[in-house]
This record gives sequence, structure tokens and C-alpha cells, in this order.
Amino acid sequence: MHDNHIHSKFSTDSNMDADEACKRAVEIGLEGLVFTDHVDYDYPDFDESFLIDYNEYFSFFSKLKDKWESKLQILIGVEMGFQPQVVDKINNILNRYDFDFVINSVHIIEHKDPYTGAFFIGRTQQQAYERYLEEILCSVNAYDNYDVIGHIGYAARYGNFEDKPLRYKDYSDIIDEILKAVIEKGKGIELNTSGLRSDLGCTIPGYDVFKRYFELGGEVITVGSDSHFAEHLGHSFSEGLEHLKNIGFKHVVHFEKRKPVFERI
Ligand SMILES: [Zn+2]
Ligand SMILES: [Zn+2]
Repeated sequence: MHDNHIHSKFSTDSNMDADEACKRAVEIGLEGLVFTDHVDYDYPDFDESFLIDYNEYFSFFSKLKDKWESKLQILIGVEMGFQPQVVDKINNILNRYDFDFVINSVHIIEHKDPYTGAFFIGRTQQQAYERYLEEILCSVNAYDNYDVIGHIGYAARYGNFEDKPLRYKDYSDIIDEILKAVIEKGKGIELNTSGLRSDLGCTIPGYDVFKRYFELGGEVITVGSDSHFAEHLGHSFSEGLEHLKNIGFKHVVHFEKRKPVFERI
């Protein structure tokens, strides 16, 4: 089993030491770690923050890969923050560097950040969630150079609403459009367990969305903890896999050189 979504010191919002993460991964029995540090072009308020030096990034992780080769598979990924106005920049970078894995994530909508609350100002919960999902649909279709859509439901972590989860039944039309587009493009979605460590209290997206993904014929799922701390690696993976199995999925995947490798569950 691989943890397919983790953040090291290369991410502005993480201090996780990559070597410590590897130690921890071996201790808890993971077979691989996929480092997916943040790149978010044109981030509101601090444009220079969520960017990485790609040459340094590849050189650092290539060395780490060699060091841990006998115990742990290390793969080099990136979590690419989508906004419509930065698609050219994204394509340019992804064409130039040989990542193993690319997560296409929406963190910012209309140049507003859900994390700071700015995105929610002047919107009801339903308006906010719908607009957020529209942006995910836009991200699915805006370019091709990615492998999975990250954490569908991320924005729900940060709204100041009593009942936070973004449920399939309340947004079924737009979620169907997203899932069908993902499947048609031969991409996947991720099961992100970070929501289980927050007051959201569920995976992102929830199992209801995976159930629908299964019904529609989807079969590419990566599982990631979205860890910013070593102690969160592999968080709630057994619970997540149990739910996926009960839905009917037979595999999860990780990506090597942008190709899916299926693992039986
Ligand atoms: Zn993210
Ligand atoms: Zn992340």
C-alpha cells in the first residue's frame, strides 16, 4: 500500500522531514510514499509561497529514493493547484518535468480562498458548495496532464456551517458530471483521509461519492492521507479500504511515471 498524497518541507504549509516520513512509513508497513508537494500559481495574498524549485525538488527526492530503495518505494509527485488563468503555466511545467504522479486540486475559486473564509462570504452553504463543484468540473476539463482529481469536497472543511459534509444526494447532478468527465478522460479520483482528522468527520470525498463512482464504472482510485506530519501517514487507510471493498472495488492504484499500477485490495 502506498500513501499517495503527502507534503514535505517543500510545501509552504508543511514542516514534515522527508527522511522522518520514510522511517515512519516503514514502521507502519507502507510499501511506498508519493511526495506531492504543493504548487499553487497565483495564490491569493501570497503569490510566491506555494511554489517549488523543481530542480532542487527532483535532486532531493532522487537521492532519498536511492537511500530508501531496499525498504520503501519513493515516488515523485506534485499537487497542482488549479485556477483557470494558470493552466498554461501548469502545462508548461508538467511537460518539462518527469513526475510520477500529478494530483489536480482546486484550492482557490474565483481567486478566493475557502481556508481563510473569503470564498464563503456572501454565499449560502448550497451556493458555496455548488460553485466549488463547478470549479472542480472546470478543472477536470481544462487540461489533460494530470492523473487524479484531488479531494473532491475539500472546501467543505472550512465553511462555518453546522453540518459540513458535502453529500452526493444534495449535489448529485454536478457530481455526476464530474465523475463522468473523469471516467471519460481516463483519469481517477482520490480517497483523501484528512477529513477524518478534522471536524468534517468523513473522507474527502465521502463514501457516497465512491459508491456513485463505482456505479458509473470508475476504477481508478488513489488513497492519500494528505499528511503534513509524519504521524498522520497512512491515517485510517484500513477503514478506507474496507469501505471501498464493501462498495465493490477490487483495486486501488498508485502511479509510476504517470502510469497506473493496480493493487488488489
Ligand atoms: Zn490539497
Ligand atoms: Zn495536499
